[in-house]
Amino acid sequence: MERLQVDAQALQEYAEYRRIVGDDDGGKLFTPEQYEEYKRKVLPARLQNRLYVSWRSPTGMDCKLVGPETLCFCTHRYKQHKTDYEVLPKERPISVPCRVKGCPCQSYQFVPLNGTQPVRCRCKHFADQHSAAPGFPCNSCSKCSGFHSSFTCACGQPAYAHETVVETKEERLAQGKPVGQDVPYAAMGGLTGFSSLAEGYMRLDDSGIGAPSAELLEAPTTSMDHPFLKAFQGPSSSAQSMPQIAGSSSATGQVSHGKQSEADDMAYFEKRYQERASYYIYCFNVNTLSQEDI
Ligand SMILES: [Zn+2]
Ligand SMILES: [Zn+2]
Ligand SMILES: [Zn+2]
Ligand SMILES: [Zn+2]
Ligand SMILES: [Zn+2]
Repeated sequence: MERLQVDAQALQEYAEYRRIVGDDDGGKLFTPEQYEEYKRKVLPARLQNRLYVSWRSPTGMDCKLVGPETLCFCTHRYKQHKTDYEVLPKERPISVPCRVKGCPCQSYQFVPLNGTQPVRCRCKHFADQHSAAPGFPCNSCSKCSGFHSSFTCACGQPAYAHETVVETKEERLAQGKPVGQDVPYAAMGGLTGFSSLAEGYMRLDDSGIGAPSAELLEAPTTSMDHPFLKAFQGPSSSAQSMPQIAGSSSATGQVSHGKQSEADDMAYFEKRYQERASYYIYCFNVNTLSQEDI
């Protein structure tokens, strides 16, 4: 019984570790010291320089909020792109290039699915038959002048009229778009809270959980009062149990590594939000949302 509990906790700690570190450990678990060092080095810039990625309709609605597992036109996931910036790029639009070796993708590009099927280009070939290199030429024909999909989004607008938008927190706030809570997780993209992954028209508003209150935004952020910033605190319980995870077997690690889906993103963040709900001024909204959604 006790062993089961320890394993469940180890699994949870591993999931948290993976959400924070992503693939930055190169497939080899950090030691507790390396993990602490990683958090000290990476998290401040990640929290300050987070990029928000969404797929925006000409109506201004964010029809898709991109999360860690959301696929790019290049067939790689958002989390496989360069999502951490020590210094925010000055140029606009901000490029989020793919980090997979040999991939020509120069910036993350969302492409919708038709159910589970890739959408077709006007050249009749599927999205994934096109190159992710600039111009998105077709690999299967010579008449294509670059990927162009007339697939109709749930918002009523054709896919080609949408734009993958990459913006900073300030840029979103200036437009009155929600930014959610600061979280230490890698490649959060446009996820700002519960139900973020639902398509725009399925959400109760067009943007996820709604803007945080001014009070929250202006509150001084310290490691003591910010639930998600627990990661900053000195040797944390998660770090202490890492050797146990590393030693116990990679079987534990494989459970959630490489097998994640967008549904997992949703489940994970939803769970975290609900666990922490009492910390949030808008916790009432979260609960209301979840009950109405079900
Ligand atoms: Zn790629
Ligand atoms: Zn890409
Ligand atoms: Zn084409
Ligand atoms: Zn073609
Ligand atoms: Zn749309």
